[in-house]
Amino acid sequence: MPVLYDRVALIGLGLIASSMAHAMREKGLAREIVGYARSAETRAAARELFCDRVTETAADAVDGADLVVLAVPVGAMGDIAVEIGPRLKAGTTVTDVGSVKQAVIDAVVPHLPDGVHFIAGHPIAGTEHSGPRSGFATLFVNRWWLLTPMEGADPAAVSRLRALCEGMGAKVDEMDAAHHDLVLAVTSHTPHLIAYTMVGVADDLSRVTDSEVINYSAAGFRDFTRIAASDPTMWRDVFLTNKEATLEILGRFTEELFALQRAIRLGDGDHLHAYFTRTRAIRRSIIEAGQDTAAPDFGRAAVAAKGD
Ligand code: NAP
Repeated sequence: MPVLYDRVALIGLGLIASSMAHAMREKGLAREIVGYARSAETRAAARELFCDRVTETAADAVDGADLVVLAVPVGAMGDIAVEIGPRLKAGTTVTDVGSVKQAVIDAVVPHLPDGVHFIAGHPIAGTEHSGPRSGFATLFVNRWWLLTPMEGADPAAVSRLRALCEGMGAKVDEMDAAHHDLVLAVTSHTPHLIAYTMVGVADDLSRVTDSEVINYSAAGFRDFTRIAASDPTMWRDVFLTNKEATLEILGRFTEELFALQRAIRLGDGDHLHAYFTRTRAIRRSIIEAGQDTAAPDFGRAAVAAKGD
């Protein structure tokens, strides 16, 4: 594949950035990959595993870069933008991989100089693991990468970034940031909150937690625990910054939950059966859309990939 960017700067060197670096290297999409992360330990791992060069500050990392990727938790993006803004050259594209889009745009754009193209993005791909050693080159293969360019975004900059995402194996779609945040509140953010809650409830039931919950964990609970093992900082920031959409979906969720609770109390089997039939069809459409496999999954060995 052709080189798309001469110098890519990765700010934050965890799961997403390290996966991007592995994929870009494998496909020859960038001539040089420079990285920065907060801790010396992460910087050392990145130097060893996937960066051509690692710097001591974010500002040094973006020097001369033609693509800058912000891959830190959503709540840290604004401070990074303040630091790197003065060092960005005109014509540079800055993107991010944060799980929330409108809050990142609001926090970052005011600190970028004229002539820099900011194109927010979100790969719908992840695992419950984090850090520089958790990345792998195929993380984005056949996953969606959503771009939320602002009105008036430079078409050439958008299509080059799109080509990069596609080069790493992703399928790309463009949408408005607010719409992205609502969709992700449904498909990712609220489900995570529900998983955190369910695992928390089980933990509160200390009489079973010690042994039964762990030893006899069945598919439903086990899947919740995998989701609830996701990075606490990342998820704290998601809920702090996608507040409205998450609260909207949580409101609908509690209404539905009450309706199901009532059906159970009243012994309304028809209601429960009709509801579960409808939800089963959604699973089928996810498989048909190629976003999961139909392979039997319950009782499996732990698998890494899940979409976020
Ligand atoms: P991660 O593995 O936890 O890595 C985060 C990186 O950011 C680390 O290198 C960390 O440095 C650095 N960092 C954290 N706080 C910082 C701060 N205040 N200032 C400077 N650097 C800081 O995270 P990730 O999973 O790659 O997530 C990165 C972004 O991608 C997040 O915005 C997240 O919302 C988004 N995302 C995640 C997933 C997923 O499933 N994980 C999926 C899609 C998008 P140290 O290692 O030195 O602490």
